[in-house]
Amino acid sequence: MRKSFTQQILDAVDARRAVVFPSEVAAAFWRREAVRTGTRRAVREDLLLSWDRFKETAFDLRTDLLPANQTIRAVFVARLIAENARSPFLRWLIPEAFADRATGFGPSIARALPSVRAATALPVSASARLAGLVADAREIDRRYQGFLDQHGLYEPRWLATAPAYRGGDHLLVFPELTEDFPDFEPAVAHLPRVAVPGDRLPVAGRHRDARAEVDSLLDRIARLLDDGVPADRVVVTVCDLDALRRRLVHAAELAAVPLSFRQGLPLDDSAPGRLFAAMGDLVADGFGVESLKPLVLNRAVPWTDYTVNGELVLAGVAAGCIGGRSRPDPRWRAIDEKRYPRAPAMIRALESDITAIVSAKTAADLRSRLNGFLSRAIDRDGWHPDDQAIVERSLEELRSIAETESRLGVTVPDPFQLWLSRLREQRYAPRRAPSGVAVLDYRVGAGVCPDYHFAINAHHAAMSVRIPRFPFLGDVDRDALGPAGEDRDLSRDFALAYAASGASVCFSFSSVGHDGPNLPPGLFVADRLIDDAPAPPRSPYRIEEGRSDSTPAADSDVAGASTTVLPLQADGVSAYTATIGPPGLNAMTDPIGDEALIAALVARQADSGDAITLRVSASDLESFRACPFSYLLQRPLGVGELDLTIDPDSARDIGTYYHRLFERFFKELHDERARFDPSRIDEYVERLGRIAAEPATRPVGMVPGFVYDAIARRASLVAVALLRIDSAVIAGHAPEYVESWRSRYDDSLNAQLVGRFDRTTRSPDGSLTLVDYKKRTVPTGSSQSGGAKEPVGIVDRSPAERIDAAAAITSMQIPFYVRLIESNGEHVGAAYYYSLEDGSALPVYTEAASEAGDDTAASIRGVVMSRERMEEVIVLMNDALEQMVSRIRSGDYRCGQTCDGCRYRAICRTGFVVQ
Ligand code: SF4
Repeated sequence: MRKSFTQQILDAVDARRAVVFPSEVAAAFWRREAVRTGTRRAVREDLLLSWDRFKETAFDLRTDLLPANQTIRAVFVARLIAENARSPFLRWLIPEAFADRATGFGPSIARALPSVRAATALPVSASARLAGLVADAREIDRRYQGFLDQHGLYEPRWLATAPAYRGGDHLLVFPELTEDFPDFEPAVAHLPRVAVPGDRLPVAGRHRDARAEVDSLLDRIARLLDDGVPADRVVVTVCDLDALRRRLVHAAELAAVPLSFRQGLPLDDSAPGRLFAAMGDLVADGFGVESLKPLVLNRAVPWTDYTVNGELVLAGVAAGCIGGRSRPDPRWRAIDEKRYPRAPAMIRALESDITAIVSAKTAADLRSRLNGFLSRAIDRDGWHPDDQAIVERSLEELRSIAETESRLGVTVPDPFQLWLSRLREQRYAPRRAPSGVAVLDYRVGAGVCPDYHFAINAHHAAMSVRIPRFPFLGDVDRDALGPAGEDRDLSRDFALAYAASGASVCFSFSSVGHDGPNLPPGLFVADRLIDDAPAPPRSPYRIEEGRSDSTPAADSDVAGASTTVLPLQADGVSAYTATIGPPGLNAMTDPIGDEALIAALVARQADSGDAITLRVSASDLESFRACPFSYLLQRPLGVGELDLTIDPDSARDIGTYYHRLFERFFKELHDERARFDPSRIDEYVERLGRIAAEPATRPVGMVPGFVYDAIARRASLVAVALLRIDSAVIAGHAPEYVESWRSRYDDSLNAQLVGRFDRTTRSPDGSLTLVDYKKRTVPTGSSQSGGAKEPVGIVDRSPAERIDAAAAITSMQIPFYVRLIESNGEHVGAAYYYSLEDGSALPVYTEAASEAGDDTAASIRGVVMSRERMEEVIVLMNDALEQMVSRIRSGDYRCGQTCDGCRYRAICRTGFVVQ
């Protein structure tokens, strides 16, 4: 009778015969297994070894030379690409047009290097492209051999292995699963191999979808564990684990099934990996804030002082540091030192340290600069232990490059980029995985033999294992080559090996995965080995588990019901009560009742030095009318979302630019005590051009200088168009208030009304003309007049009717300003909005006919309302002011009717809850 798989291996160990497994995972499994079963108290490690270890120990390789390893190949390829950039010799593998930007090709060429020699012998008649690729392979082969000879190295895959086998007593387990087995097959063909029970696959279960498959898996594991099966007797192999890992982690947490993922993750997919990559991005981006954020706001990095990092980002955003073109953004030199006192020193240190790291000329230099930076800026003992291990592994990789440089006496072009590409290539798995049911990626667990082995997600694509013979050939080239270019298809070998890798092996897949429909595995379909799997039960396990551990948490009021509350239920109840009660303060739906709180909020809206006199501007009024709750967040609470994005086309900053332009212009006119004279329009245009060209006119903000340069021409066209409108609107006027604040205490409201006027000019008859510039949208006529151009008799209407009439007016800035100015005994004869977008004017009302020429008349739109209607609008605005002040004093900030366009949605979330 044939011995079982397990027995063959254990007998070999007892007979001191070394057993060779395709992976270290399988070898390690059997070392534990050999000690766990029988009477063995220990086994020699070299009796259960991996294929890689077997190659190192069983072959008499060139002891006089050093074998090339991945680092050496990477160093050679980095130099090859640099040489090719200087004087291109590769034509097809790296297109000549990309020769000087080809570092991205490095990792794939390094991987293909061992197969280059075989490629030189390929027939080239199939296609011109193939002939070109083979010519490139010959050139690489020649240069690689020269490099190896020069530095006393050899390429292990190029050796004839048969004569080099030292001999020994070995038993091979699935050796055909290793990628380089064909290179060694002649030498080991005579060695015995473990016998597996036939070449039949078991039945694979088909699930409706991936969720059902995962639930079914977890349910089965949970039952096994409940039955007393130790977790380490169960193994899960997930075909394409990367695709399923996050969902499996989540589902296992919900089901309380202890899974232990033994999958290595790329070194660059970690907090330290991201830190190192962000350094390169920061320098490439000229120290732009967007690239700085991933570096300094990475909370997983134990910065010595994290607070200064936040200060630095805020300073960069405020100064609009979008990044320099060929060097660090010079705007960093203009950051506001008073507001961000620690930022200048921090950015100088970063510029110096990180530029030095990224531009290091040798790996040794890079090492010392990086270590210096890590010691200065980072608390090296503060890493999470997992991240600490990755930092060490990453630095180990850098050390290996530096040693290779030193040993070979060569330098690597751009060692920082080479190091990053090595980090991208390397996967790291913690040495000590947490206990639990091991979860492995497909291929690594072939040859283990737990009591229960579940192979899930085993759909057709995920079970396909193809090893390309010539990795640099595309599908078209392989087709042209025919059988000589075909991949090694190990799909069936792996499936059969897995069928033997466990006392009980269970394959399953789902018809619909998380990424879409899956094809059934072809190997199983061919043998009619697909069965519908039963649907997973409705998780009685989870509830039972909760019940068995439960402690009495609350008495039940329901007759006959359990007197205990399951932990799951207790969590639900506490979440429920936290959500719906007891009700706390909800200013969105109820007025605030606490007098002290009301007074504190009023104090925050009061004029300076006075805790009770409200200070109200036109924008406060509009904000309160849009939604009192958003006003509460914005004004008294000062709550807002932190916006760390840089807008190089900031409407606010560009608007400020226009404001400054006109402010300077009219202030000069004011200082000259001159009146606006349309006959001097050419001189005015020239004067505006001069002001626009002065750097001082440009606000310090997010908009870079070159954007101002780009908009300067358009700005001057708009400015000239508005000057021509002024010729019709304010001919003979003297500038009065220019960009200035005015305020007036209002007795009836007990409020200080304040406003900042863009510009008022005094006409020869003594009345004022008010102009407000708008960078964005000019309010529509109906939003200002409520749809009525002439009076509708509002004074006689009932309070309810007045409320309705006021609701139709959403823009109250001009009536607010007119009221404010006229309460000081002045008279506003006309009010305009000027559009900074298109150089047009909207007369809100005007008592005098303007004298616009034909070309200017087209830029002045129709008058919105009569002065008489404006009087009514002012009455409605007064109503709104009274209502606002009264609500604030009674703590009523309940939210408005509509949330359209509200920028507090992310904080308030009302819309989301309601919907
Ligand atoms: S989302 Fe709606 S309720 Fe909330 S603050 Fe904005 S407008 Fe008011």
